Amino acid sequence: MTAQPFTATITGSPRIGPRRELKRATEGYWAGRTSRSELESVAASLRRDAWSSLVAAGLDSVPVNTFSYYDLMLDTAVMLGALPPRVHDVPDELDRYFAAARGTEDIAPLEMTKWFDTNYHYLVPEISPATRFTLNPAKVVAELKEALQQGIPARPVIIGPITFLLLSKAVDGAGAPIDRIDELIPVYCELLSLLADAGAAWVQFDEPVLVTDISADAPVLAQRVYSALGSVPARPAIHVATYFGDPGEALPALARTPVEAIGVDLVAGATAAVAAVPELAGKTLVAGIVDGRNVWRTDLEAALSRLATLLGSVGSLAVSTSCSTLHVPYTLAFETELDDNLRSWLAFGAEKVREVVTLARALRDGREAVAAEIAASNAAVASRRSDPRLRNEQVRARIDAILAAGIQRGPSAQRRATQNARLHLPPLPTTTIGSYPQTPEIRKTRAAFRAGEIDEAEYVRRMKAEIAAVIALQERLGLDVLVHGEPERNDMVQYFAEQLDGFVATQNGWVQSYGSRCVRPPILYGDVARPHPMTVEWITYAQSLTDKPVKGMLTGPVTILAWSFVRDDQPLADTAYQIALAIRDETIDLQSAGIGIIQVDEPALRELLPLRRAAQDDYLRWAVGAFRLATSGVSDSTQIHTHLCYSEFGEVIGAIADLDADVTSIEAARSHMEVLDDLNAAGFANSVGPGVYDIHSPRVPSTEEIAASLRAALQAVPPQRLWVNPDCGLKTRTAEEVTASLRNMVAAAAKVRSEAA
Ligand code: GLN
Ligand code: ZN
Repeated sequence: MTAQPFTATITGSPRIGPRRELKRATEGYWAGRTSRSELESVAASLRRDAWSSLVAAGLDSVPVNTFSYYDLMLDTAVMLGALPPRVHDVPDELDRYFAAARGTEDIAPLEMTKWFDTNYHYLVPEISPATRFTLNPAKVVAELKEALQQGIPARPVIIGPITFLLLSKAVDGAGAPIDRIDELIPVYCELLSLLADAGAAWVQFDEPVLVTDISADAPVLAQRVYSALGSVPARPAIHVATYFGDPGEALPALARTPVEAIGVDLVAGATAAVAAVPELAGKTLVAGIVDGRNVWRTDLEAALSRLATLLGSVGSLAVSTSCSTLHVPYTLAFETELDDNLRSWLAFGAEKVREVVTLARALRDGREAVAAEIAASNAAVASRRSDPRLRNEQVRARIDAILAAGIQRGPSAQRRATQNARLHLPPLPTTTIGSYPQTPEIRKTRAAFRAGEIDEAEYVRRMKAEIAAVIALQERLGLDVLVHGEPERNDMVQYFAEQLDGFVATQNGWVQSYGSRCVRPPILYGDVARPHPMTVEWITYAQSLTDKPVKGMLTGPVTILAWSFVRDDQPLADTAYQIALAIRDETIDLQSAGIGIIQVDEPALRELLPLRRAAQDDYLRWAVGAFRLATSGVSDSTQIHTHLCYSEFGEVIGAIADLDADVTSIEAARSHMEVLDDLNAAGFANSVGPGVYDIHSPRVPSTEEIAASLRAALQAVPPQRLWVNPDCGLKTRTAEEVTASLRNMVAAAAKVRSEAA
């Protein structure tokens, strides 16, 4: 190929817009408020602005086709003719696309799941025996031409065939999707020719799956697929991007194919791995040295020395981000409330592009050419290292002392006996997961408080009124263990982050979670400490209104870690233990205030699981340790609950037993209680509340169907250990749905209780 190697790029970029313009436009379109042409013009101007700012910053190759109305895996399914047949009857193309993404009244959407170990969710393509792969290149070709017309050095980005198939799911009795790789190769070959005709000099195939252990054959597949794509005559130069980890054996395998460039994530992987592959001497190495998924400023000095060690091992070196900047906010420019020190430690999307360009310039023109940038970076490194907020010796000493004394509670059977004597619950006790509907009034009150329209006293008064209403409702329904309903929490992580030292919130740090949904993760920059109790006032108020036990609700250390941007200057485990200490102090304060049941939610336990098996045991060890540190400060008569939001436990099932919570609620409504057998097999002997209905749907389950689930659960778990609850929090449902569903749930529990008696 004759394409010039590029020197400065990024792997991909966000698309929601710096002010979430795309969110407003798509949601407006779905609601019928925004016309098709308005939506398209918002999209086109977001693309134009994104591309031109990347060129202005100095990139010499710009990723395109990273725009999406919803998700790139879905775009790829469309491109390959692999949409499920149930959407085929939707006549309009864009509406068909949205039907696959979101469903309609009569069409179920594609399933959604986490993109590797990030908080982004992709849509899972369905491959059935009837799927016939055919090329539908309209979107990528249009985006390429649009960019070229604007003079952009455009490099179309496409999810590669291995990643596409390994992340798809087989339906209707089909075999593993990856077995159809030979049908997909010719489609990708055809695409390469078309892109060359349309004027592409380079094309990027994303193959993050090569850094995982999802398929042991991945290196062999990589060599097969890219040898085939590499032999297409008259094609663009090919860049294969791996990211989120070390490609391991896939790196030499790719290097033996005719592709021109290979991308590696040097934030997650090692420089040494590159030096060990002699075939890279003939390739462009796209060095992902600027962290694309965390918010810290790059230490330019350190980055330059790492890049320098690679120069001798590769044909040419391009500087890039470790992965798409989709995972970080757009720009620091909107953050006006950060103190100067903290601000100097950070780099969001736009700042990361400047770092890439600076590093590429240093490689080309020498260090002196970027002396000012290096000086600024060194100053930031020094300021971060010496900031007193990064070390709280008291917190560190307390953790050491607690770990030395042990984080083991009393034997679980003994705990159960003392808790039973204290709580007097019936067999099959009924409860909920924590939140009650977040009504428009609750949201308005929170917004008014933030905007300073109501004072704190008025805010507290309204929240307490809401808590009183939720307690009264639960008493009317006859639930056994009540909750306060979480009205004061905008988000289960942000609520705690706002009250803990060591965290800072952003004003506009939005990142896409899925589709039009965005989240604003807090930044965890220093040692975590709890200056004051965080939940005690709300929970004790709720408890003062009822004779039934009220369960205190906390978010667990791993989940707080997983849904924040976390400091990168110490092991994650150390940070997790610090959060755990704050939660532990909160459990002790709740206990002292007379609360007998405390739930510590860990819905993200599985999410942080490392992609490579070799690293998983170590992770599970500290994740379990953090949970135990958080929950072992209370006496045996205080009942600890936890909640996990999924039912396919896989590798984490043993860890769930190790958490040693007295009661674990899990999602099971959609997996028909099979999960209980898995838990038994893992030696789990504490109490369990398999969700008896699916809160993700507006449907109200009947008493009989819940009773049937409970009878099924009783096949696996004795009545003394079985709890009755929905499968997750109720905040997204309406008051009517919740009341009707819980009424049936309580009736079903009573019925099955009397059958068992
Ligand atoms: N306690 C939280 C709630 O009920 C748990 C949410 C979750 O599992 N993600 O909303
Ligand atoms: Zn949940």
